[in-house]
Amino acid sequence: MATIVVLRGDGIGPEVVEEGLKVLKAAARRYGIALEFTEALLGGVAIDATGDPLPEETLRRCREADAILLGAVGGPKWDTLPGDRRPERGLLRLRQGLELYANLRPVRVFPPLLDVSPLKRDVIDGADFMIFRELTGGLYYGTPRGIERRGEEETGMDTLIYTTSEIVRIARLAFQAASKRRKKVTSVDKANVLMSSQLWRRVVVRVAQDFPGVTLEHILVDNCAMQIIRNPRQFDVIVTENMFGDILSDEAAVIAGSIGLLPSASLGARGGLYEPIHGTAPDIVGTGQANPIGTILSVALLMRYSLKQEEAATAIETAVERVLAQGYRTADVKQPGTQVVGTRQMGDLIAQAVQTA
Ligand code: NAD
Repeated sequence: MATIVVLRGDGIGPEVVEEGLKVLKAAARRYGIALEFTEALLGGVAIDATGDPLPEETLRRCREADAILLGAVGGPKWDTLPGDRRPERGLLRLRQGLELYANLRPVRVFPPLLDVSPLKRDVIDGADFMIFRELTGGLYYGTPRGIERRGEEETGMDTLIYTTSEIVRIARLAFQAASKRRKKVTSVDKANVLMSSQLWRRVVVRVAQDFPGVTLEHILVDNCAMQIIRNPRQFDVIVTENMFGDILSDEAAVIAGSIGLLPSASLGARGGLYEPIHGTAPDIVGTGQANPIGTILSVALLMRYSLKQEEAATAIETAVERVLAQGYRTADVKQPGTQVVGTRQMGDLIAQAVQTA
């Protein structure tokens, strides 16, 4: 029996998680996988209930779980809280507490959505790559950090810091993934300016020696930002530090057509946290328009990486493709001649398609 902790979170989080669970349960039934669910609080809802964005009880349950499914956290209601008490800090602490050091974001275009992206069809057709973003180091965690008064002025400060072992473990995952794909790793840094990037590059070169069948190339982050939308087919596996990965993966969402389509997996020594890459979308919360596909594809990654259920994972991905090919769309990816459906109906259609796969 595998235990899944469900963190619905804030904003559209609960709406998309509901549909993710529907599809997860449909796939579990279809493939005879025994699952047990437990709910816990994270983010704004946790602040409202306990004063802490990551209550101790949530961390304990997540530590014991086989996998965690998360919606998203944050929203205007909590925006005025001090930095360390904000919902997003709860998520950062959760990733750190579980040592989930690798954030994996697959980016690919579903053929039925080729014309949804603002990028030209012939640029994105066939794009299929994975971004490995380092998740527990770099600027988002480094110290010293803070805002302090120095004489007449206030000074805001963050620290970009990486150790060899932090770079080695994410680089190894990227090379292992590339070995099973098109055998190319692109390491993204800013080695022309940053010392942390110079170490990053040196360590990645060393790791590459253990993977002679995989080609390694280096690219500066500013050039990478351009290449991702200029010629995305050149990439197979991208590996990069925390903030560069954060920015590049949102940019890559444009290739897929909508931020609502992209899943992610955060992996560490054990367990795994699965969430769509989007936030809580305060502008559409409660309208029933949120696209649940990013969460549903995150559930496919959960099946693949935490439960080792490849067949169920592929069935979910195929079901998504089939429903899109039938012409069903949520509002964010609607096109002329397609049928617009809401969050819940999209979840129902995909769950049905999984069951009849
Ligand atoms: P966002 O991703 O919430 O929204 C950006 C835009 O994309 C909005 O127009 C939104 O309507 C749209 N969008 C997002 N998800 C969608 C979906 N599933 N279907 C259709 N449209 C979708 O980013 P934001 O507006 O910058 O942030 C809103 C809040 O979410 C902030 O409080 C932010 O801190 C938080 N956030 C949380 C996470 C997380 O929990 N991992 C990630 C990013 C942002």
